[in-house]
Amino acid sequence: MEKVVIVTGGGRGIGAATALLCANQGYAVCVNYKNNKEAADAVVERIRSEGGHAIAVAADVSLESGVRELFETVDDKLGKISALVNNAGILERQIRVEDIDAERLRRILSANVVGPFLCAREAVRRMSKNRGGQGGAIVNVSSAASRLGSAGEYVDYAASKGAIDTLTIGLSQEVAGEGIRVNAVRPAFIYTDMHSDGGEPGRVDRIKTSLPMKRGGCPEEVANAIVWLLSEKASYATGTFIDLAGGK
Ligand code: NAP
Repeated sequence: MEKVVIVTGGGRGIGAATALLCANQGYAVCVNYKNNKEAADAVVERIRSEGGHAIAVAADVSLESGVRELFETVDDKLGKISALVNNAGILERQIRVEDIDAERLRRILSANVVGPFLCAREAVRRMSKNRGGQGGAIVNVSSAASRLGSAGEYVDYAASKGAIDTLTIGLSQEVAGEGIRVNAVRPAFIYTDMHSDGGEPGRVDRIKTSLPMKRGGCPEEVANAIVWLLSEKASYATGTFIDLAGGK
């Protein structure tokens, strides 16, 4: 039976690299996106052109209705999932905490915390051996920001990733006896569009010389760690983190 994975935010950046690598490893892939249909369709086209199986599904994972529709569409079109990559995430313009307002906090926490929780819930309902499932694996895309704090840039975003770290630890323990592994990657300074959303497209190049490795990272380097954590090669790993931040 074909393995099925949902990659939230799979149309661009780290999610796109992960979707492509998952397909390469034999998964049927749901490429979820919020707005950018063109990017998600391009990932799906590339997977299909290489002989893989993929669909693009538009859904805002910060909304409960969006998460339900996403998982029900995948049930219908690809079958039962065995893997979830909770990758979709946002940040907003660089700002100090003293200037943050409640609306911004709600947007960040809805996308970066509520979304991954709800997706994890739907995945557990389908994968848990206590519910008739076959088990599976979840990888949460956290950030080194959860350790570093993102002072002067986006402490709200960093705090949302702290919540993802805690979700990873707590959920991993809840479902370890039900055939589900839950792990996380904590990237930083990866060349994607996300830094433009913070108002500084060249952020990685500004920071890179201060990193032990003296360079930024590629989405594919994060995807490799995600796909390893999903795989049977990581069969005894749960509640763990892989830091991909050039030594920072
Ligand atoms: P990106 O290039 O900005 O891509 C973000 C993806 O998430 C897009 O596909 C976007 O969809 C999707 N998305 C955003 N909000 C969504 C929502 N509510 N529902 C569904 N999809 C949504 O970002 P990235 O850098 O690859 O980041 C991916 C993950 O890595 C994020 O969780 C981020 O926090 C984490 N991360 C990134 C870095 C870095 O240096 N880049 C470092 C640490 C952690 P559309 O294409 O439709 O807009």
